[in-house]
Amino acid sequence: MPSDNAFASAPAASNPLRRVTAYTGSAAGVDPVYSEAVRRLGVALAGRGVGVVYGGGKVGLMGILADSVMAVGGKVSGVMPRALADAEIAHEGLTDLEIVQDMHQRKNRMAELGNAFIALPGGAGTLEELFETWTWQHLGLHAKPVALYNVKGFWNPLLDLLDHMVEEGFLRQELRDSLIVESEPAPLLEALAQWHPATPKWDRQG
Ligand code: AMP
Repeated sequence: MPSDNAFASAPAASNPLRRVTAYTGSAAGVDPVYSEAVRRLGVALAGRGVGVVYGGGKVGLMGILADSVMAVGGKVSGVMPRALADAEIAHEGLTDLEIVQDMHQRKNRMAELGNAFIALPGGAGTLEELFETWTWQHLGLHAKPVALYNVKGFWNPLLDLLDHMVEEGFLRQELRDSLIVESEPAPLLEALAQWHPATPKWDRQG
C-alpha cells in the first residue's frame, strides 16, 4: 500500500543510485533531438543497472523512455491513475504497472519508489511533478537528488527564472544549487550518485 506521504520514511541521506523516478512529457516535442536524447538516457540508465519509475504511459517522451530502457533489458515500473489509463495508453510491456486511484497517489508512489529524480523535457504536468519533489527536498521532507536533463537547453528559461528568484531574495543560492543540471546522460547519472543534500530551508543555524 502506498503511504499517505511518500517522503515520510525517506532516509536522511541519499542512497547509491538504484531506481530513478523520471518526469517527462506526454508529448514528444517538435524536434527529434528530444526523443534521441531520451533514448540515450534510457540506455545509460539500463547500462548502469538503474531501474526507472515513471507515469506508466505509452505516449510521448514517457513512452519513448520506457521503451528504450526495456529494449536493452532494463527494469521499468509505471504508476498510473485508473482515469488516465486510456488517455495516456497504459504501457502493457513494463516490468510492472501499478494502477492507483488518483494523481496524488500517483505522485506519492512515484516519489516513494525512486531514490533520485530526473525531469526530462515536458509540459505543465512535468513541471508540477518536478516542483513538488524539489520543494519537498528544500523542506527536508526527503533527501533525494533532483536533476534536470537539459536537452537542447530546454530548461534554460526556467533556470533564468530560478536565478532571478535568487537575485530578488526569494530562493537561497544553496537550494538553487542543489538542483542538478546536465545535458548528457553520463555526467547526469554521476552527479545524482555524488549528490549531497543542502541544509533544509528552515534548518539554518544563526
Ligand atoms: P505533461 O508534461 O503535461 O505532458 O505531463 C506529463 C505527465 O504528468 C503526464 O503523465 C500527466 O498525466 C502527469 N501529470 C499532469 N498533471 C499532474 C499532476 N497534477 N499530478 C501528477 N501528475 C500529473
